[in-house]
Amino acid sequence: MSNCAIVGINWGDEGKGRMVDLLTEDYDVVVRYQGGGNAGHTVMNEKGKFALHLLPSGIFREGVANVLGNGVAVDCENLWTEIQDVVSKGVSITPENLKISDRASLLLPWHRDLDNLEEARLADKKYGSTKQGIAPFYSDKYQKKTVLAGELLYPAKLWEHLEGILEWKNLTLEKVYGAKPYTMEDLRSWFADFGEKIKPFVCDTSAFLRGAQAEGKKMLFEAQLGSLRDLDYGIYPYTTSSNPIAAYAPVGSGLPSVKIDEIVGVVKAYSSCVGEGPFTCEWFGEKAEKLREAGNEYGAKTGRPRRVGPIDLVATRYGVECQGATNIALTKLDVLSYLDEIPICARYELDGRETDQFPFPAVLADARPVETAMPGWKCDISGVRRWEDLPQAARDYVEYVEKAIGCRIGYVSVGPERDAIILR
Ligand code: GDP
Repeated sequence: MSNCAIVGINWGDEGKGRMVDLLTEDYDVVVRYQGGGNAGHTVMNEKGKFALHLLPSGIFREGVANVLGNGVAVDCENLWTEIQDVVSKGVSITPENLKISDRASLLLPWHRDLDNLEEARLADKKYGSTKQGIAPFYSDKYQKKTVLAGELLYPAKLWEHLEGILEWKNLTLEKVYGAKPYTMEDLRSWFADFGEKIKPFVCDTSAFLRGAQAEGKKMLFEAQLGSLRDLDYGIYPYTTSSNPIAAYAPVGSGLPSVKIDEIVGVVKAYSSCVGEGPFTCEWFGEKAEKLREAGNEYGAKTGRPRRVGPIDLVATRYGVECQGATNIALTKLDVLSYLDEIPICARYELDGRETDQFPFPAVLADARPVETAMPGWKCDISGVRRWEDLPQAARDYVEYVEKAIGCRIGYVSVGPERDAIILR
C-alpha cells in the first residue's frame, strides 16, 4: 500500500485527526486537499492536545512534509495564529515541513464579513455556517474573483489584481448589505500582517509532489468534514462548499495523476452533527445530553454543543459508497460503555414505508429513524488493545455494523490517545 486517503464517512468530527496522527508514522507526505479553517481536528499526542483547523495532522511527525493543496481555502490570518500556537508547544514548523500550494486561493478578510452578513440576513433560515468565510470564498474562487497564494511572490501583480477585485467586492458590501467598504490601505496592512508571514511557505507544491511520487514516497491525503457535507453528494444545501470525498483528493492536492490505494473511512460508534439541516437519527432531552457528555461532543472550532444520536446505518452505508472506502476506522467505541443497550438507527421510514436507501436531500427531513438495539458491555474498554480482549457484546456490535455498511472495519479506536487503538 503506498498512498492512502483518510476521510469522514458522516457529518464530520468522526475522529479523522486522531487517525491521521496515528497513521502518519508510515507516510512521508501528508496533504490537505479541500476546505478551510471551518472545522477542526483534535489531536492528542506526546506533545499535547491540539485543535488543528488548517494545518495537516502530520505536522507533529518529524521528517513528514505537510502540504496544503490547491483545493484548500488558505486563510493567512487563521493559519498564522495556528502556526504560532503549535510552535509555542514545541513543534517545529518550517518551509521544510509545511508547504502551501502557490495555486491555492486566498481567503480574504471580506469573506468572513460576508459570511456573517449573509447568516444575519437569513436569520432563522440560516445554514449554520461557522462564519469562517468558506462559502463566500469558494463562490469567489469559482467566479475567479480572489487571488492565488503564489501571487504573494509577485507583489506588483498582486496589488494590481486586488484593485480590480476590491472595486467589485465593495459593490456587494455596500449596495447589497450596506456594510463598510474596504480600501487598498486595509488590504495592504492585512497582507503585511498575515500574507508576509505565510509567504515563506508558498511554493510549487505540485512539482514537490511529483518529485516525491517519482522517489516512491508514500502519501497520505487528509480531508475535513465527511461525505454528508460534500457539496455534490451531501445533504445540500446544508453541505460545505467543497468536496471532502476521496475522489477529489487528486485534484485538490495538486497531483491529478495520483492513484490512491487505500481509502480509510472514519466512522464514529454513534452519530454527531454540527449546525443546521436534517439529522434523522437525532436524540433529544436527557438521553442526548448523556451521550453528548460521555462523548464530549462540543465543536473543536466553536465550542457549540453537537447534535447527537445513535449510529445511523443508512447514512453511513451511503457515506461509505460516496467515499469508495476500502477500510473503516470505527472511533469512540469506549464512549458507549455506559449504555445498557447500544442503540442503532437501522433504517428510515419515509412516506409510510421502511427504506435502507439514503433519501434525496429535499425529502430527507421527512424521514424518521427506525431504531433497534444490541446488548451493551457495561465495562471500561479504554485500556483494551487486542480484538480478542474486547467484551463479546462490543465485538458483536462492531461486526454487526461492519456487515450493515458493507466495508471491513480494520481499526477500532477506544480512546483519544495515539495508542488507544485495536487493529483487526
Ligand atoms: P475530526 O474532525 O474528524 O478529526 O474529529 P474531532 O477532532 O472533531 O473529534 C474527535 C474527538 O474525539 C477528539 O476530541 C478526539 O480526541 C476524540 N477521540 C477520537 N477518537 C476517540 C476515541 O476512540 N475515544 C474517545 N473517547 N475519544 C476519541
